Amino acid sequence: MERYDVAIIGAGMSGIAAGIRLAHFGKKVCIFERHYASGGLNSFYAKDGRKYDVGLHAMTNFTGPGDRRAPLNRIIRQLRISREDLKLCEQRGSRVAFPGANLRFNNEFAYFESEIASVFPKQIDGFRKLVEAIRSFDDNEFNYAYRSAREMVRTCVSDPVLEDMIFCPLMYYGSSTEEDMDFGQFVIMFKSIFFEGFARPLEGIRNIIRLLLKRYRESGGIRKMNTGVAKIVTVANQVDRLILDSGEEVQADVVLSSAGLPETYALCSPQPKLEKPVSAGRLAFAETISIFKDQPKSFGWGDDTIVFFNARERFSYREASDLVDLTSGVICIPNNFQFGDEQMAEGVVRLTCLSNYDKWKSYGESEYAEQKELWRPRIWSAAKKFMPATGLGYDGACIAHDMFTPTTVERYTWRKQGAIYGAPQKSKDGTTPISNLFICGTDQGFLGIVGSMLSGIAMANTHALR
Ligand SMILES: Cc1cc2nc3c(=O)[nH]c(=O)nc-3n(C[C@H](O)[C@H](O)[C@H](O)COP(=O)(O)OP(=O)(O)OC[C@H]3O[C@@H](n4cnc5c(N)ncnc54)[C@H](O)[C@@H]3O)c2cc1C
Repeated sequence: MERYDVAIIGAGMSGIAAGIRLAHFGKKVCIFERHYASGGLNSFYAKDGRKYDVGLHAMTNFTGPGDRRAPLNRIIRQLRISREDLKLCEQRGSRVAFPGANLRFNNEFAYFESEIASVFPKQIDGFRKLVEAIRSFDDNEFNYAYRSAREMVRTCVSDPVLEDMIFCPLMYYGSSTEEDMDFGQFVIMFKSIFFEGFARPLEGIRNIIRLLLKRYRESGGIRKMNTGVAKIVTVANQVDRLILDSGEEVQADVVLSSAGLPETYALCSPQPKLEKPVSAGRLAFAETISIFKDQPKSFGWGDDTIVFFNARERFSYREASDLVDLTSGVICIPNNFQFGDEQMAEGVVRLTCLSNYDKWKSYGESEYAEQKELWRPRIWSAAKKFMPATGLGYDGACIAHDMFTPTTVERYTWRKQGAIYGAPQKSKDGTTPISNLFICGTDQGFLGIVGSMLSGIAMANTHALR
């Protein structure tokens, strides 16, 4: 039976980052991935000859090289990759759009602060107090106690509209819990979006995945694709061996799983004894991707990179009661990053809304396809209200489109209920009741592209290198 120092379940961002770190330090490490493609929730695919990013709207946490402690710089250093090779281009500018109020922001925090002073002049002192609390929170500590972020924010900000406008982007880009979030997670997301900011490579996620895989290969890491882990067999609370989908068996001193917390426990045989049962997340999304022959600038949508919109009096972040909740969402226009002289060949508009896994799952194949066709224009109409008026006739101008639902996410990543941000319950220090089985990525609690890579690095350092 083949034996490794470390076996990693999943070739998503966290799994590959962990693998690079371990291989670099001479560990015999193998990543087992069930899909034929790497990248997990942030992969890419081809349809009708066109390449689509699965997830990428923007990479959060964009910072210059100066701040050594910034997450992006820690990743660059720990993975020994070059900033130039990431080819990151900054956003043009983004917006939180609510009925009657817009808050603009870019990668300079002072600009966001000035927007708050101008749109909510009575709240600026409270907002600055909140910023102080965020700055003084130690988010490098894994096991901080739960504290309601809503309650904490309300001690500083008394206007519920401003409160909701702050929460809307942070929840859409990184909350696995409905309506409220852990203050620690709030701090991580606030810093990653408002203190730091958005960037992406012109080529999209392909550039980053290629770079990471090259680094992993060069460090001597082994990667087995189309090779799912079917079972984690434990003896006396220790992983004894992994049984692969093919029936083959392998052994490892340490197992790092990025498959998710409930998903990993479901693989264990026998089932681990848990103090509290871990349930799969209920927050799932539907997304439409529309391709246009022309740049969005040509139809008046050239300024906004990402718009977080909400049409209700109070913003509600919870599982949709219908197939899609049209009252809030995210509009992402990948063309509107500062690519310099270059530009994407076609216009792309991505629209994301909260969705309902059970409802999509209840349909048979043809009804499912019909429902997608029904909801696509509805999502477009809901989002369009928050964009500059345009003479653009969508059906005439859109030359290609695709749409995914929570069932698509589940089908290609095996993430239960298609919950992109995983289970509400996290394993912040990565430990499980099995002594040599650890969690990395989404369900360790660090989300997004940068967050999951940081998680992979931190869990590899803590549980397999020290
Ligand atoms: C539509 C969408 C939009 C997003 N937009 C952004 C964005 O703009 N910016 C951003 O920063 N983040 C974004 N994200 C979130 C980001 O993609 C994720 O947080 C991050 O990629 C999670 O990485 P991970 O390694 O934790 O998990 P995953 O990417 O889920 O990796 C886990 C891997 O494990 C594999 N696996 C599962 N079970 C098994 C098994 N039994 N055996 C073997 N392999 C298995 C899966 O196939 C998968 O490849 C988005 C995600 C989606 C889906």
